[in-house]
Amino acid sequence: RRLVSPARRDEDVELDRTLRPRTLAEYVGQSQAKESLALFIEAARRRQEPLDHVLLYGPPGLGKTTLAACIAHELGVEFRMTSGPAIERQGDLVAILSNLKPRDVLFVDEIHRLSRVVEEVLYPAMEDFAVDIVIGKGPGARSVRLELAPFTLIGATTRAGMLTSPLRDRFGVILRLDFYSVEELTAIVQRSARLLGVRVEEEGALEIARRSRGTPRTANRLLRRVRDYAQVRAGGVITRDVARRALEMLNVDEHGLDAVDRQLLSTIIEKFDGGPVGVETLAAALGEEAETIEDVYEPYLMQQGFLHRTPRGRVATRLAGEHLGLPVPAPGGL
Ligand code: ADP
Repeated sequence: RRLVSPARRDEDVELDRTLRPRTLAEYVGQSQAKESLALFIEAARRRQEPLDHVLLYGPPGLGKTTLAACIAHELGVEFRMTSGPAIERQGDLVAILSNLKPRDVLFVDEIHRLSRVVEEVLYPAMEDFAVDIVIGKGPGARSVRLELAPFTLIGATTRAGMLTSPLRDRFGVILRLDFYSVEELTAIVQRSARLLGVRVEEEGALEIARRSRGTPRTANRLLRRVRDYAQVRAGGVITRDVARRALEMLNVDEHGLDAVDRQLLSTIIEKFDGGPVGVETLAAALGEEAETIEDVYEPYLMQQGFLHRTPRGRVATRLAGEHLGLPVPAPGGL
């Protein structure tokens, strides 16, 4: 249970809801994605047509769900939400689709985890706003076409490459969300603090932002923990010093790395001579799932220049060694 993990957990649900921006104007950062979306939204509104289907991809906690909800808000339509693993049978998806009203937004989180048979229902739904239902069994079976209201599907996934190509091809708009800058995260921390009624000095917000791994969800989670510390130990105001002391106590270092990140990097350096080491081997050495390492932990470590992916496996960089105070043997230490 890592404090810095960007993956959504039960304790985040309420916080996520309270802190979620409602409009594109409130949504901090991701200016490129927002700019193109604002244009497509305006065009769709003028024509009174549904917006093209949108695929959002990027690491967890960067605001895909939030952005999808903002899009529905801007379109003035209802926002329906489900996820790949939640839809078990074709009938479940047909039920959801047939309840949509014209131009509504259906958000499917973790869309790459839809089963193949369920995914096949989506193809005609996305393309022709219709689904084909088979009635009866055996030789007497026949297929009936059910018309749907024209709607917008917004899919979210951690990696666009995990989608099958027939599904990916049916999205008119494909947008990647990037890690946030420290300035953007500072603005998010300040906004969240206002909503939570916490007093935070700019330097305090900056200190939390720096350690939030480019991820709003992590920023909000850290803010909540630092608030507890400030209230119990420091008179309630989050100054730079209070934030620093709280995050040190929580074992989050100045780059936002925690014990597991440091262990991942030091394992590559000490046990595998700096790498390259295959992700499966690394996962086994750490007792983690390879997929979790790839989708959740590595993107930030790579963005910070602590880790490289090479065709032969993962390599720890010299920067990682310097950060941990360990010498990185060649061919690691790039
Ligand atoms: P994802 O769907 O990518 O995992 P979410 O949309 O659930 O991420 O975002 C997690 C939380 O982070 C949200 O509840 C919201 O409070 C905050 N958040 C995300 N993106 C932004 C943003 N651009 N501006 C402000 N807060 C954001």
